[in-house]
Amino acid sequence: MRVIGLHSDVLVATSRIWQTTCTIVRSEGESFVIDSPVLPDELELLPAVLERAGFHCSGLLATHADWDHLLGRLAFPGAALGVAETTAARLTADPGLATRQMRAFDDEHYVDRPAPLSLGQVQALPVPGHCEIGGEELELHAADGHTADGMAIWIPWARVLVAGDYISPVEVPMISDGGSRDAYLATLRRLEALVDGAAYVVPGHGEVLEGARAAAILREDVNYLAKLPEAELPMARRGEAQRAIHAHNVARVRQSPAAP
Ligand SMILES: [Zn+2]
Repeated sequence: MRVIGLHSDVLVATSRIWQTTCTIVRSEGESFVIDSPVLPDELELLPAVLERAGFHCSGLLATHADWDHLLGRLAFPGAALGVAETTAARLTADPGLATRQMRAFDDEHYVDRPAPLSLGQVQALPVPGHCEIGGEELELHAADGHTADGMAIWIPWARVLVAGDYISPVEVPMISDGGSRDAYLATLRRLEALVDGAAYVVPGHGEVLEGARAAAILREDVNYLAKLPEAELPMARRGEAQRAIHAHNVARVRQSPAAP
């Protein structure tokens, strides 16, 4: 797991699996852990990472309900989890889904975990909206289209955007179950103004991006989505896994071909 500092109040840890990112943000004595690394040793290390940097975990946030972003409670078992109302609705509709998906991943890759996943107390946050932290406020922006739910988090005093599963340097836009091309494009349009003002963008998967590079990836993604099902994959994202995501996107857009 790689850990970097973006600002005196912002750390990012990146998992060895899928380069899933975990962002830790602090104001005064409070810190929130946004999303999570995936592997047991990374989760075990996370409290020490915070402690060494002088951060104290006051709560967890998750950008959306996909299981690989929801594992913060394995590192901080007592912490409450704040999510967008749309994400809370997804978790309520199928409370065991994340646990089952984690177990399926663990079975496939022979991963042992010291404890089962329990999401505990889930707090639904109004989005768009704000979330107080110390003497500051995080801005919460709707970010659906990849899935039916989600939020992006803007950290105003550090000019950092935690984008959720959008604007990734390693993953093409993925229209999952419950997601849609139109909603995905609307989210990218909403995020564009934030990206333009951002020092850094933290994608759900992949390395942290400087603002200008994130803006270029955002434009590539808009172009890709607008041209589906005929779109070509961006140059840097053409591996086998990306082609499989692309095939899935093509099938989904053919099912509901409404133009953006
Ligand atoms: Zn993800």
